[in-house]
Amino acid sequence: MKEILAVLALVGAVRPSVAAAEGPNARPHVAMRGIYGGVPQEILDSGRSLRDFGVDAVWMGSGSFTTARMALLRAQGVRVFAEFNTLHVADDLKSHPDAAPVGSDGQVSPPPDGWQGICPSHEGYRRSRMDAFGRLLREHEVDGVWLDYHHAHASWEQAVPNMPDTCFCERCLRRFQAETGVELPEASTAERARLLLSTHRRAWVRWRCELFTDWVREFREIRDATRPRALLGTFHNPWSDEDHGGARIDKLAIDLRAQAAHVDVFSPMPYHARFGHAADAAWISRQVAWLGRALGIEGEAAERHRIWPIVQVSDWGEPVPLEQVPAVLDHGSRLPATGVMVFAWGGLRKQPEKVEAIGRVFRALRGGPAEQDPGPAEAIGTAGRADRAAERDGREGGRPTGRLPRTASTPGRM
Ligand SMILES: [Zn+2]
Repeated sequence: MKEILAVLALVGAVRPSVAAAEGPNARPHVAMRGIYGGVPQEILDSGRSLRDFGVDAVWMGSGSFTTARMALLRAQGVRVFAEFNTLHVADDLKSHPDAAPVGSDGQVSPPPDGWQGICPSHEGYRRSRMDAFGRLLREHEVDGVWLDYHHAHASWEQAVPNMPDTCFCERCLRRFQAETGVELPEASTAERARLLLSTHRRAWVRWRCELFTDWVREFREIRDATRPRALLGTFHNPWSDEDHGGARIDKLAIDLRAQAAHVDVFSPMPYHARFGHAADAAWISRQVAWLGRALGIEGEAAERHRIWPIVQVSDWGEPVPLEQVPAVLDHGSRLPATGVMVFAWGGLRKQPEKVEAIGRVFRALRGGPAEQDPGPAEAIGTAGRADRAAERDGREGGRPTGRLPRTASTPGRM
């Protein structure tokens, strides 16, 4: 047996592509293996604990938190993190209609692909989000909160992003001038927008990034005052400074270097299949490596910042074949990443064979005795169980495979 293992190790060493296809082995640097999208009830229904299955943490939308779900997950010994919708609570436009982003023509910007963003300078909307964030931290013993949709009005979660220039509302233009000292002429909004996107472009982009970063600063302040041990994470666009012509900064107003002053964990969203890299799982680790270089994160245990990518395993837009699951998790868990989570339970719960594949890789990453199969158990997805769980979980169970653009009521992406 030892000889066989030695031969296998040698094969793995000289043929990394084979190892990648079969999935990674134990990686002590990976401290967190998570599932995004709610309570993985189907795993529990199969008679195994989440820990035995290989899962260390679960992410739920902030709107899905209940005392009962927290207790259930705590009893499983996993960490529980919340996803928090910052600038995509479209329903709030009913009470704050003047929070709708304004386009470069001076008109309210229609939601690109149905994706509704919010003007970042609207004080009432901001207050309501900060209050909700504080309430979540007070009422639930979460291990951390991940900001989500913290970017400008744009539909970027697809292969060809749709990113209109915004927000040129009177409030934004007034604040920009007051805070930068740049004076805009008395002119139409369209003319002022033209100047902001040409002559004053640098000041405009910087001001917008600083405004989005200031939201993160306030979230951090609330976290520090309310539940200081909770992590502050962010689900964010995975592009480098150069990808899509620098749009992460220029269009989406996400300045990761500046946000690093406040954020503990960065969770880039390299959804390779959805974003046009279906056959190239290595795109995931390339984007993560870029992030590490940009932020000076190497994946050392003593570092203040961590990178835990969220990788696409469910079918959303493009399917992720079962046989690609090990490669996706391999690339998602390479240094400087020190954790990895799968997107998303809403779709995965209907694909039991993929769930089993995730469990195999998660246990392999953890290594040690638990790497062995946890023992006889019912197969996930045994008839009827998934449906009952879906009923119990309400809207989460009814969701299709991934997240969809939201123009209406549901806060959070679940
Ligand atoms: Zn505005």
